[in-house]
Amino acid sequence: MAAQIIDGKAFAARIRARVTEEAEKLAHRHGLIPGLAVVLVGEDPASQVYVRSKGKQTAEVGMRSFEHKLATETPESELLALIDRLNADDAVHGILVQLPLPDHMDAAQVINRIDPAKDVDGFHVSNVGLLGTGQTAMIPCTPLGCLMMLRDHLGNLSGMEAVIVGRSNIVGKPMAQLFLGDSCTVTIAHSRTRDLPAVCRRADILVAAVGRPEMITGEFIKPGATVIDVGINRIERDGKMRLVGDVDFQSAAEVAGAITPVPGGVGPMTIACLLANTLVAACRARGLPEPKGLSA
Ligand code: NDP
Repeated sequence: MAAQIIDGKAFAARIRARVTEEAEKLAHRHGLIPGLAVVLVGEDPASQVYVRSKGKQTAEVGMRSFEHKLATETPESELLALIDRLNADDAVHGILVQLPLPDHMDAAQVINRIDPAKDVDGFHVSNVGLLGTGQTAMIPCTPLGCLMMLRDHLGNLSGMEAVIVGRSNIVGKPMAQLFLGDSCTVTIAHSRTRDLPAVCRRADILVAAVGRPEMITGEFIKPGATVIDVGINRIERDGKMRLVGDVDFQSAAEVAGAITPVPGGVGPMTIACLLANTLVAACRARGLPEPKGLSA
């Protein structure tokens, strides 16, 4: 194996330590304790695990965690009324509605009900527009985590060829905006892209956000490229359930210069960035300067 491993778990621990330090300063100097409200509708087991983990980590960095669990059959109007209350609550600086929502709810309508200043997931249409026009926005956590790791590993990204496989609203598109902001030359590939391996081989930075286990092999990678694997796929191998990425780690690591593993790469950075976003939202709400290095 030639590639250097980019340790997302260690980097996320550093981000959480920074958030803890900054949250302590806010509490002592300004009596301000950032608060994150997480809303879970229904019983989806994976979502329950994420929500528990978010609540635990929020408390660990010295912020307030508010959990709201609603039954699957809750009418959408009740969820919207809860969001209105959270929007008006001064103790709440960040609001996250765990996706997916039950089928009878309109996710776009729900997300767009959140006050954009408290939209720590960065999915509100106002934040999408602000990011797209290079203005101060709340940035979606997963692409923000990828950007932080890349800056840390590569330094200045200006002029680099960045290829993203996947054009979702939560990963691919905001990732592209962030790369443009850092003056990369950006390509977004998707299921209709012709000759995907050739497109990917152009990349100095390759981000895989596809949702297909181990699809991106060494053949897709330019020697020395930096590979960020966003994928989280549960597969059965040798009679055991395993977590694998969208990148075939073995073959990719033979060619890449650096690569994020799954697990232990992008995943831990996503929650760390959620905590960072909540801290940033609390600073902005009070008109205080934002701590450096915790946003784009
Ligand atoms: P989506 O399903 O919303 O998007 C997948 C994208 O991949 C689509 O744009 C699709 O193209 C494209 N695609 C699918 N098949 C191919 C193919 N054969 N060739 C090229 N492109 C293809 O996924 P998400 O963006 O939500 O998530 C992607 C992955 O990242 C998943 O594994 C998910 O679990 C993981 N994830 C991890 C997070 C973390 O914290 N680490 C957070 C969020 C997601 P088209 O648009 O044409 O259909």
